[in-house]
This record gives sequence, C-alpha cells and structure tokens, in this order.
Amino acid sequence: MRYLLRLLGLGLLGLLLILVVNTLRLASHQLIGVAPAPAVPVADSALARLAGAVRIPTVSTTDFAQTDTAQFGRFGRYLRQAFPKVHAQLKLEKFNGYGLLFTWAGTNPALKPVLLLGHYDVVPVLPGTEGKWARPPFAGIQADGYLYGRGTLDDKASVLAQLEAVEYLLGTGYRPTRTLLLAFGQDEESQGRRGAGAMAAELGRRGIRAEYVLDEGGLVKTDGVPGLKKPVALVGICEKGFLSLELTATGAGGHSSMPPAQTSIGELAAAVLKLEQHPFPARLEGGDNYLLDYLASEMPLGQRLAFANRWLFAPIIVKKMAGTPSGNATLRTTTAPTIFRAGAKDNVLPIDATATVNFRLLPGDSVAGVVREVRRLIADEKISVKIIGQPNAPSPVSDPAAPAFQQLHRTIRSVFPDAIVAPYVVVGATDARQYTALSPNVYRFLPTLMNQEAIESLHGNNERLPVANYPKMVQFYAALIRNSQ
Ligand SMILES: [Zn+2]
Repeated sequence: MRYLLRLLGLGLLGLLLILVVNTLRLASHQLIGVAPAPAVPVADSALARLAGAVRIPTVSTTDFAQTDTAQFGRFGRYLRQAFPKVHAQLKLEKFNGYGLLFTWAGTNPALKPVLLLGHYDVVPVLPGTEGKWARPPFAGIQADGYLYGRGTLDDKASVLAQLEAVEYLLGTGYRPTRTLLLAFGQDEESQGRRGAGAMAAELGRRGIRAEYVLDEGGLVKTDGVPGLKKPVALVGICEKGFLSLELTATGAGGHSSMPPAQTSIGELAAAVLKLEQHPFPARLEGGDNYLLDYLASEMPLGQRLAFANRWLFAPIIVKKMAGTPSGNATLRTTTAPTIFRAGAKDNVLPIDATATVNFRLLPGDSVAGVVREVRRLIADEKISVKIIGQPNAPSPVSDPAAPAFQQLHRTIRSVFPDAIVAPYVVVGATDARQYTALSPNVYRFLPTLMNQEAIESLHGNNERLPVANYPKMVQFYAALIRNSQ
C-alpha cells in the first residue's frame, strides 16, 4: 500500500514537473526592440478628408439593382480631388464601374506586389434608428474626440488612411521597391462579387501572385483578453465560411379540427431542435491554436500553465472559450436558425413548413461535409434539405510563421508598442476571402484601437472613430509600405 502511494506520489510529481517545464520553456512570440515607426505629419485636413468621405452615403443594399450607384461615382470623383498625387502618379483601373484598383509600380518588377484592400460601401442605417445616433450618420461630424458616421470604422477609414499614406509618401519622393496594389471594393457589404471578386479574378488572370494581402478584420482591442492587461492586436489569419440551408417539411394540409399525429410544423421544429442540440464539434485546430500560442507567454501564471499544456488542458480551455458566443464562434462551425415560416390561418394546417438555418464554417470544414452532417443529424427523409444562395467555403489558414506575417507584426509593434500581437479567427466575412488564390499570406487587420463597445457600433448605432486614432492609421500604412521591401 505504501509502495503504491509512493508510486502515485512520484507520478504526480512527474506530471507537475512536465507542466512546469512546459510552462517555463514558453518563449514569447512578441518581437522586441522594434524601433518606433517614423511619424507622419497628418494635418487636420486628413481628418477633414475622411469626414468628407463619410458624407457621401455609399450604401450597399442586398439587391445591387436597388443601390444608389450615383453616390459611388461621386465617391470616386471625391477621391480624385482629395488625393491629387495618387491620381496623377498611380494607375487606376475600374471594375464594374466602381471597384477601384490602384497600381503603384515598384522599382523591382521581379518582386511580388503587396496588395492592400479596403471597401467604401457601408451598411444602411436601419430605418427608425437614426434618432439613436448622437450625431447624424452621414454628416461627418466631429464631437467629443470622435468622428461620427457610418463608415468611419467599416471601412472608409482604412481606404482613406491608405490613400493618405501613399499621398504623403509620394510627396516625400518615395518610390517603393515592390509594386503596391490598392484594391477598394464597392460591394463588400453585399457579397463583394462586383468589386473584390472581379478585381481578384482579373489579377489572377494576369498571373499576379502577391507577397501578402491585407484587409480589414482584426484590430487593436483595448479590453481584449480576460487576464491580459495590455491591448491585443488581433490579426485575422483566416475567416469562416458561410452556408444557408433551407429545411422543408411537407404535410397533407387540411382542417385543423382533425390534425394528424405529426404536422409539418411539428416535424420541422423537431429537425431544427436536433440541429441546435447537436452543435458541430469544437476544435482548436481551426485557427485558435495559433492565438493560444501567441498569448500563452503573456498570460498570468494559471492561464500560462494551461495554454502551455494543451495536451492536458485543451478540454478545459475549449469549455471556457465556448462559454461566450464570440469565443464559441471561433471554435466550431456554428448553427443558427434564422427564419421559420409556416401557416396562414389559425384553423388550417399548412402544407409546407420551411426553416432557414445559417452555418458559419470553421476552417477545415467543407460545405458538402456540413450538408451531409445536417442530413445525418435530422435523419428524417420527410425533411428536404437544400442550399440557398451562394455558399462560401472557409478560407485557408495563413501561417503566422511566414516572413510576411513577421513584417506585419513588426509594423504593428512599431506603431502600437504596448500591444500584444496575436493571430486569430475572423468569424465574419471580408473581401479578403476573394483573394486567397493570389497568396498564402492573407491577413485581416485594421490598425486602430477599439474596445468592445466600439466594435459593436460597427454595423450598429453611433459608429465612430476616435480622432486620435486616425494619425496612427496613416502612420501604420506608411510604415507598412516602407517595411515591405
Ligand atoms: Zn467592412
């Protein structure tokens, strides 16, 4: 007995030793000793130019035929007048009328170009919510240290800041070694096929392969990770896919005074419930492992030990992350019933009952695989399952060990020296997904500080950019262009 106890004690000691050694061996992924990026003298006029851009209501609508494209034309003319050097010295090509592709030819055409993305369409302001804005959404008003307006964060700030950076560099006589491409879409908020889709296809046809691609997506989150006091610069290395399925149950209909044992509504409800009760499995391999790798050494001891010993603690980490909808969304393909439709009259049994279920696919999963799994889970041949709309596969995961990521990392630390850089999974969709064939290095990052409240304003009320952030954005893009040689 004593022998057994001693053996157990030794085993526990061994385990503890492994945990401690793994924790101590953790090396920080953060680049240190990065020189601050050169300041870019951004005049107040830069902010005024952004405000001017916000005043042009380039609103995207789901049905592009309904879009007021006159505003898109106006926006293009506005840029021409606001950035004269860019328009005099860079080549500009237009796609489907309004997608803007600028080319700044590098001195060494043998090098792969750098491709910076942005979009200048914005989501509408929901009718009835105008009154909830502290300042009108399309007035471009500065107040309380913010520039208010739809598009100040998503994504006119990045379009304008990139153009400011290039305009500034042109003014200094700078000429890039690597060709720089700026691609600004006009329909990111409604699928992005006319803008990003068309531009990516044409660049592909020309045989262009990019050193890296940078779009919006991540940001410097000031209240980022529980336990971490520093801001976290989240750089999207992948994005989830999109699939909507329509489930239909067909009944016999008839009078509600003599209902069958199961109605089409009951049948459909049961199918939806099965899907909700059987979520897709959680996996750290969909991109979260990289996040944990980068955060581990920066965390307080308890989390550091857990992150360093995922061979043992992965189930606990997964459980904790899955506890919030936003954490859960980075871990698995999510299942969201969004539309439920059946019946027209209280005394008539409906024939068809239909439900739409929206899935966001984690990298590694496939559209066909999810459809197969949905059919298997429902296991009811009376329910038909069909794909509606255009599904998107999840993107590949870009490797943060690539030199291009390190360049981006260096630039982030040169502008935001306190921020911990970490790769992460983007749960929404960006234009970047259209460009994944052009480069294995596709990143999603908006160089601005934001807290959770600001993030929620993105497609909501009171979208606003802290005025102090804007010079940093311009400085970031100028430094990135200079560093990409
Ligand atoms: Zn956007």
